[in-house]
Amino acid sequence: MADFKIAVVSGDGIGPEVTRESRRVLEKIGSIYNHTFEFTEVLAGGAALDQVGECLPKSSLETCLASDSVLLGAVGGPKWEGYPGDQRPEMALLGLRKAMGLFANLRPAIIHPALSDASPIKTNIIGKSLDILIVRELTGGIYFGERGRRMGALGEEAYDVEAYSETEIRRIAVTAFEAAMKRKKRVTSIDKSNVMESGRFWRSIVKDVAKNYPEIELNHMFVDNAAMQLIKSPQQFDVILTTNMFGDILSDEAAMITGSIGLLPSASLGSSTLGMYEPVHGSAPDIAGQQKANPISSILTAAMMLRYSFALNEEADAIERAVEDTLNSGCRTEDIATEGETVLTTKQMCDEVLKHLG
Ligand code: NAD
Repeated sequence: MADFKIAVVSGDGIGPEVTRESRRVLEKIGSIYNHTFEFTEVLAGGAALDQVGECLPKSSLETCLASDSVLLGAVGGPKWEGYPGDQRPEMALLGLRKAMGLFANLRPAIIHPALSDASPIKTNIIGKSLDILIVRELTGGIYFGERGRRMGALGEEAYDVEAYSETEIRRIAVTAFEAAMKRKKRVTSIDKSNVMESGRFWRSIVKDVAKNYPEIELNHMFVDNAAMQLIKSPQQFDVILTTNMFGDILSDEAAMITGSIGLLPSASLGSSTLGMYEPVHGSAPDIAGQQKANPISSILTAAMMLRYSFALNEEADAIERAVEDTLNSGCRTEDIATEGETVLTTKQMCDEVLKHLG
């Protein structure tokens, strides 16, 4: 039995709808396994811009930092598109990641057997199911490197610098190897070491970290080949370890391979157990407030929180099994329903998951 404080950033669009459901699942898990989850609603994103004029108020940040974990719905939407870049709702995510020191982004790309037809890849390639975990470095590399404009030999030019320190590579590699130890014990590290010095450095540090994990099978792949291999033979991957920019691109590619964005969770972690957990999808303004959103990505996001922040593996397994059983029993929200199938609302889909949990 344990008590956990969870800061909930429901956010905008479908964020509040799906987060409401994952909270219900956590409450049920709490009652089955005797844990107390204390939820504190935190204002951030577009909702915060509307109410207090800034996307991440100081009090919201403080509540998140004082919690055991942060559960996020989604932020942003067309209403705030006219705001200057540094005031947009999405900046709340960057502010939270920075303040919480979240340098690792974990994004599973999972195909549930009941939905293998949803993948745009032929079933003979994708197989009946798929389970890849992408571990992306989140706070370094080209997105945070030196940048600017200057005059070059051919006129004005722009530049962004890819730079990685040994510390940054080592800690993200450890995250990937530790995750792989709980899975099939295979890591594929992705770089561009045939061209980039930072890629050669990345590869050498990853090899060094691997010495501490003799049970792990480590492979290296150039990013262009990895983009092809994800389509050609995705089953070869277990854990993919990569840089900020390559991870940004490959994780979206992997999400597309699964065929349903409404099913994918993600976690952002740092060196403590405090993490931020959010569905891969955005605020889906086109379906917001209509009970059409699939709550499963938020529910699986809650399962990741139990596993990675609270070390409640049995409870996380129970949620994942309940989701699998719900899908196997034919329950579908609009995004994953095929013609003729009954379409459930956001709440009804969660009701089914709760039944299977019970
Ligand atoms: P989106 O993920 O919100 O939507 C893309 C498509 O997927 C839409 O057709 C939507 O209806 C559908 N979809 C998404 N989630 C779904 C779900 N749970 N169930 C059923 N269908 C679902 O991406 P977008 O339209 O590019 O972005 C909308 C807003 O969200 C933008 O303002 C963007 O900046 C923001 N965004 C926020 C986050 C975040 O908060 N982490 C992530 C991505 C985008």
